[in-house]
Amino acid sequence: MSVLVFAEHQDGKLTRAAWEAVAAGQQLAREEDDAVWAVILGRDISALANQLAQAELGGVLLAESPTLAEYTPDGYAAALQQVIEERQPRWVVFSHTYQVRDFAPKLAAALNRGLISDCLGYRKEGSSLIFIRQVFQGKFTADVEFTGDPPYLVSFQAAAFRQDAVAPGQASVTAVSTNVTPETIRTKPGPRFREARQAVDLSQAEIIVAVGRGIKAPENLELVKRLAEALGAEIGASRPICDSGWLPMDRQIGSSGQTVAPKLYVALGISGAIQHQVGMKGSRTVLAINKDREAPIFEIATYGVVGDLFEVVPALVEEIKKAKSG
Ligand SMILES: Cc1cc2nc3c(=O)[nH]c(=O)nc-3n(C[C@H](O)[C@H](O)[C@H](O)COP(=O)(O)OP(=O)(O)OC[C@H]3O[C@@H](n4cnc5c(N)ncnc54)[C@H](O)[C@@H]3O)c2cc1C
Repeated sequence: MSVLVFAEHQDGKLTRAAWEAVAAGQQLAREEDDAVWAVILGRDISALANQLAQAELGGVLLAESPTLAEYTPDGYAAALQQVIEERQPRWVVFSHTYQVRDFAPKLAAALNRGLISDCLGYRKEGSSLIFIRQVFQGKFTADVEFTGDPPYLVSFQAAAFRQDAVAPGQASVTAVSTNVTPETIRTKPGPRFREARQAVDLSQAEIIVAVGRGIKAPENLELVKRLAEALGAEIGASRPICDSGWLPMDRQIGSSGQTVAPKLYVALGISGAIQHQVGMKGSRTVLAINKDREAPIFEIATYGVVGDLFEVVPALVEEIKKAKSG
């Protein structure tokens, strides 16, 4: 086995992160010209394993146990260590979620292997894979390479791979037994952490209209709302807009906000600082409207309008309405 993907699930559903990890694992396996497997841990989760098996995989490993019914770092690290030692994958791939951040370092230490976490992607140089990750809050990116023996553990940032890139297939599910005793688990899980109460989950939005300092004053947000309504979009924002209290913090997109990957991302009066870009660069199509033609957002925009948003947006809203009614 070349690649093993950890598939996360929550509230009885596979998460988007699980599918992104599968997409990453499939791509990595293509580099290695070898198979990719997925592993899922829990109790009463065979339906989820069957869903996973609808991806192009060598197979799905299903580890069910009463001690894995609820997520605990001890339980997950112990179970995965056993699966990895038995199956000996070369790569173990995770999405960099809160859960993975919680247990993956412990797992790597238990295996005495390295973990390169929170990667944006990788590139191939000869026979080596070089992983790219941000440092200093996104001001720089660093190239990191594994040394030593496999397995190599790697986690990728949300939206580094797209869930719709998962190659479909029909894999079989294999039950694997793990020995995780209740004594192994030293903590009792409390309620799961949420960034903010009733937080808007922008990561699931298909269309986002994001607004930056170019909007100038909170009363002008009405214009943004009109465009969002016309497009059926969620509203997002750059950090200064949320810091000023013009929109709630859960609308912030970027390195200290949400990471999003909509089909369409409209950036209004946003300069495109690196801390903003890391949160939205996974968007499929980016439309940037900015009056400064040198603004960095244009470097990653699919379509760019150099112009005053107070002129462009009303015209756009009119055209969208016309197109809808026609
Ligand atoms: C540790 C750290 C973490 C950070 N985390 C985040 C984060 O998560 N998210 C985030 O967004 N930022 C973050 N930042 C801040 C980031 O560095 C930028 O300061 C911020 O993204 C800039 O926001 P902006 O693009 O709205 O404003 P500006 O950079 O001021 O850009 C405003 C843009 O509007 C354009 N404009 C002005 N008037 C008009 C008009 N009438 N029509 C059209 N365009 C117009 C201007 O040309 C300009 O490009 C972080 C910074 C640090 C240091």
